[in-house]
Formats: sequence, C-alpha cells, structure tokens
Amino acid sequence: MTGRLLAHTPRRRHNHRVNYRGRFAPSPTGALHFGSLVAALAGWLDAHAAGGEWLLRIEDLDTPRNRPGAADAIRRTLERLGLAWDGEVHVQSREIGTYRAALDALIAAGHAYPCACTRTEVASASTHVGIEGPVYPGTCRSGLPPGRSVRAWRVRVDDRTIAFDDRIRGRIEQHLERDVGDFVVHRADGIFAYQLAVVVDDAAQCITDVVRGADLLDSTPRQLWLQHLLGLPSPRHAHLPLALNAQRQKLSKQTFARAVDLDHADAAVPWLRQALAFLGQVPPPIDAGRDALLAFAIDHWSIARIPASDSIVDG
Ligand code: GLU
Repeated sequence: MTGRLLAHTPRRRHNHRVNYRGRFAPSPTGALHFGSLVAALAGWLDAHAAGGEWLLRIEDLDTPRNRPGAADAIRRTLERLGLAWDGEVHVQSREIGTYRAALDALIAAGHAYPCACTRTEVASASTHVGIEGPVYPGTCRSGLPPGRSVRAWRVRVDDRTIAFDDRIRGRIEQHLERDVGDFVVHRADGIFAYQLAVVVDDAAQCITDVVRGADLLDSTPRQLWLQHLLGLPSPRHAHLPLALNAQRQKLSKQTFARAVDLDHADAAVPWLRQALAFLGQVPPPIDAGRDALLAFAIDHWSIARIPASDSIVDG
C-alpha cells in the first residue's frame, strides 16, 4: 500500500527553480577525515557542476556518539576547504517533532509495530543471518507477547525486491525480507533511527541527489522502502568508493583516521588534490590555489571517472 502519509511540507523556503539539491550529512562524532572529505567534495562538485545547491545537515541524533565541539569543527573545516553550503545548517536534534510525526504516520497506517525483543532474544530466535546480522524473526509482528512491554518500533517489510540505479555502482537490488527483515525506526534507547531520520530530512530539505560513501549502499533499499510507505519522493543516488587504511578498514574515528586539520585555507590544497585523485578526476594545474583548483574541478567534474571499487589511502 502506498499513501501520502506524511505531507511533503518543507518548513524552510527553498528555491524551487533549482533542479538539483544535494547535501552533506556528517555525524558530529569527531573531526572530518579523508573519507568524509571525499564525500563532501564529491557532493559539492556534483551540485555545482549541475548548477544546483548543496546543503549541510548535522546528524546528531545518536547522542552517545556525539563529541562536544565536533559540529563546529566540521563547519570550520568545510569553510577552510572552500566547500560553502547553501542556506541554514539543518540540525537533526532540533527536528525531533518531524521524526515523531513520521513514526506516528507509520504506526497509524499499520506499517510500524512495537517490539519487545532484546538483541539477545532476536539473535537466539533468528533463523538466518542477513547483511547486518541475525534477521528479525517476526516475534512481535502480530502483537507484543503477554507481559512484555514495548522497547523499539519496527517497520514491516514484505516479499519484494527493491531495486535502484546507482550513478556509480549501477543496478542495485536487495530483498528486504531476506537480507534485512523488519527493521527498527525508533530504538530501545528512545532515539529515532538513522534510517527514518534521513528519509524525513531528505524530503524536508527537498534533496534530489544523495552522494555519499558506499558504506551506506546497504541502507538505501530501507530508505527507498520508507519513502514508498510515507509517500515521499526518492532522490537519485551515487555511492562513492570508500577510502581504506592499510588494513583495508574504512577510515573512521574508530580506525584512528587522521583528522583533516587545516589551520588556514592554503593548507586545503593538498587535501583537495588527494581527494580529486581518489575520485579519478583530472588533476588541476600544478600551481592552482584553492579557489582556482575548485573552479577547475567543477569544470572538469565527471562522475563517470569515479572508480566503483574502494581503495587504500595513506590515512
Ligand atoms: N551521517 C551519516 C554518516 O556520517 C551519513 C548519512 C547519509 O549521508 O545519508 O555516515
């Protein structure tokens, strides 16, 4: 069943003549590292090459993972990189009411249901392992077992294959029931899940194009499913190759990736050059300063040159 459960009513004014609107959506869990720089640069270039807008969203719902000062540090680093964003910064923790409204709409339509299961119970009752561990066995699908109380809210999936055409990776297909199962949209710790918040925000910010790391490729079918259930438009997607360290781990705070640490704008140039090389783009002239380098990169931007496979960098 499809329905327009959530009215598509962006609260902020957007320029509707713009037919491309992208976003960069870092979680403020630490400083930007090379992997997040690649996502920011690719998104910014793709938006500018299309004559569109590029918005900044701080994904700070997962409060235990937030680090004080990280959001400001990210903003400062983007400024020094020359990657200016359009409009106000969208901060998820100020938008809780919109996620609540989306969850209420899913519940009212019977798409979301309360679940009492702990992680351990799911693991022991599950019959098979999906892309993110044991698939939820459906214990609470038709009601909470007697004497149990609600921990989380899950969204029902069904027996269909979700497919989309990624601009870098090509055709992607996932069978939600087999590979993921009914998934959590409101967590046992009271936090709205990333999958729900990102879908609500992409609609509220009128995002037409998502450019992000391929670590989120597996999440996209869940997001397409939620967009379908909520009657929201689905953006186009481009999933970038991941920057890995020598142990083939994704660069992240957890793997101690080096921070993009810029004390002035000129320090941005080597980082931007390295990111452009990683993205397979034409190298800018040797003597180009930051702004000339970025202008050159917009003119020569080619998504077709981005490799589809991950690669190792000196992180
Ligand atoms: N906040 C997510 C991250 O930092 C990105 C979400 C997205 O781009 O959809 O990995």
